[in-house]
Amino acid sequence: MFKIAVVPGDGIGKEVVREGLKVLEKVEELSNVSFDFEEYPFGAEHYLKTGELLPDWALEEFRKTDGIYFGAVGDPRVKPGVLEHGVLLKLRFSLDLYVNLRPVKLYHPSLTPLKGKERIDMVFIRENTEGLYVGSGGFLRKGTPQEVAIQEMVNTRFGVERAVRFAFEYARKTGRKRVTLVDKANVLTYAHDLWERVFEEVSAEYPDIETDHYYVDAMAMKMVRSPEQFDVVVTPNMFGDILTDLGAEIVGGLGIAASGNINPEGTGMFEPVHGSAPDIAGKGIANPIAAILTASLLLEHLGLDKEARAVEEAVKRAISEGKLTPDMGGSLKTSEVGDAVVEALEVVYSEG
Ligand code: ATP
Repeated sequence: MFKIAVVPGDGIGKEVVREGLKVLEKVEELSNVSFDFEEYPFGAEHYLKTGELLPDWALEEFRKTDGIYFGAVGDPRVKPGVLEHGVLLKLRFSLDLYVNLRPVKLYHPSLTPLKGKERIDMVFIRENTEGLYVGSGGFLRKGTPQEVAIQEMVNTRFGVERAVRFAFEYARKTGRKRVTLVDKANVLTYAHDLWERVFEEVSAEYPDIETDHYYVDAMAMKMVRSPEQFDVVVTPNMFGDILTDLGAEIVGGLGIAASGNINPEGTGMFEPVHGSAPDIAGKGIANPIAAILTASLLLEHLGLDKEARAVEEAVKRAISEGKLTPDMGGSLKTSEVGDAVVEALEVVYSEG
């Protein structure tokens, strides 16, 4: 029995998580896996009603789970940043979720804006707790013409090594062949020199995995010109943030982009890349594929590889059959796409 905390959050977060849960419940029915889901109300509505963002008692409960399944937070009535810092970043830093894992996989050739591309299948491992995101820095002479603004980039040997090591372990575990390091060591001659040295040292322990290396500017070009050449990619926090959005766009956009925030020694928080999308919330047209693929990542994290692959295959079939929401050119409702994936899942399991 796996203990899963569920935080649907706001806007379309609630709508797409409902579909993801539908799929996970079907997995329970079709396999011998079982889940104990516990739902939590955190998000804008709860904050506006109670003033509470993410209390420490909830963090303690989350720590004891096998995974957290998260929708999205964000609401026009709450100042931008409040929920992101109070809920999402608090979760990420308190639970030390140091890996941001984002697959970039093309499920159907019609989904990519790149001409003639049929196979794109890479996984980004983004360092998730350091770099330019530690919030260290300050202003000098703020508001004057002589203002100085400093934002510090923190790279620790420990932090870099654990992200790089995760990338190699992940490659080995999932049968992938190559790990690519993306940095900017030609300009960031201290910070990314550390990344390069650590990458070289760690890679020596994985002779079965090939390695290569690109500077981030070259990587942006390569991802458009020849994305098929990449397998596992490991990169610092900010480059990962930017490149994974580019990655999402070359395989179909926000409606299908999934992510996991993982502490391999602890728990993991799994969320679709998109936000609460207030413009379409409540209309029943949100694309649930990103949340369903996120559920598949959660299954993989739990070591349920067969189940994770089955969910992915079901999504692939639903897409191929044109069972799509309007953002992907279809006309189905959120729940109808969820139902289509559930039906496809039954077929996938019946085929063994
Ligand atoms: P934030 O990331 O700041 O929470 P947001 O919630 O306003 O932003 P995003 O989720 O990033 O917006 O998405 C931007 C737009 O893309 C949305 O306003 C919506 O129109 C569209 N979009 C995002 N996710 C989906 C989805 N799952 N299905 C359909 N459209 C989506």
